[in-house]
Amino acid sequence: MLKTGFVWNEKYMWHDTGNAAGIIPAGFNVQPLQHVESAETKRRFKNLVDASGLIKKLELIDDRPISDQEILTVHTPEYLAKLIKLNTTGGDAGVFSPMRAGSLDIARLATGGVIELTDAVVNRKVKNGYALVRPPGHHALPDTAMGFCLLSNAAISAKYALETLGLKKVALVDWDVHHGNGAEHIFYQDPSVLTISIHQDNCFPPDSGAREDIGSDVGLGYNFNIPLPPGTGVEAYIKSFERLVIPALEKFKPDLIIVPSGFDAGAYDPLGRQMMTSQGYRTLTQMLINASENLCHGRLVMCHEGGYNPSTVPYHGLAVIEALSGESSGIEDPFLEIHSGMGGQILNNHQEAYINAAELTLKTLTSYWK
Ligand code: ZN
Repeated sequence: MLKTGFVWNEKYMWHDTGNAAGIIPAGFNVQPLQHVESAETKRRFKNLVDASGLIKKLELIDDRPISDQEILTVHTPEYLAKLIKLNTTGGDAGVFSPMRAGSLDIARLATGGVIELTDAVVNRKVKNGYALVRPPGHHALPDTAMGFCLLSNAAISAKYALETLGLKKVALVDWDVHHGNGAEHIFYQDPSVLTISIHQDNCFPPDSGAREDIGSDVGLGYNFNIPLPPGTGVEAYIKSFERLVIPALEKFKPDLIIVPSGFDAGAYDPLGRQMMTSQGYRTLTQMLINASENLCHGRLVMCHEGGYNPSTVPYHGLAVIEALSGESSGIEDPFLEIHSGMGGQILNNHQEAYINAAELTLKTLTSYWK
């Protein structure tokens, strides 16, 4: 029986974002502290997968450094030249995206990990998979880094699936709490990739992720933004999947689903204001597994994005990998009881209003689909 694929490389943790007060670089008026996008959250996630024994139930997939040519399927030559220079000197590659020497080499491995996992899933070497990579990718634009993201891991992998593996249609379901603006931009005029982003309304980037942004040209109707208000909990997320995400997938009928997976919609995250729990992520994962089995032979690839609470993210991640693999680690999330009992987990009227509005958007979108 096929296992769940898992991508990890300790080198991902050696991408050094330096000192910052959260996201603000340390300086004369800013006391140094560890940058919020540090290795710790991801390494602790991996450590829990190891310590729980779950790692033994997974199939490890090797990464590889992607080539310049592969980077250029999504990014511009000018931006690649900038990254190559900063790979020696270090510096900021764009908007809030610190690099150190070697960061591009590590980013090439991270994207290569997602590509190799995609290859393994499509070629039935594994049943589905999770790539625990770093640096993240979903804010990176063709010509600039943004929001800690250097290369667009998910978008480059989607291009690989279309151009090298010969798939016809890919759907991206980005559940990071921040808008998946990179893939939106890259595929805005491309009907072969349905980009879905469910995110906290206008959180990051500023003025990004509106329902009205639905694609253009031949891509009109193939970008679906689902903003949710701050304070959204598990029931509203599940309703959003039931009424919006899953129906969109069923109608689009992708050959592959890629999930840019951030856990910063989790309760306690410092960069988001949502209320998700490990059980909530488990449920959403199961819904995506069911959809992928109905629509595309179970082809479901997740690649790690944000999530900045080093105490809670490992349990969110463990729940997702348990669901993907159908295996139990035997470890219970010690935060689940307190997170589940917090106010806001039940669907509120103002949250439902956002879902109702997005349902109208979905009707508009599908009216353009052939
Ligand atoms: Zn995020």
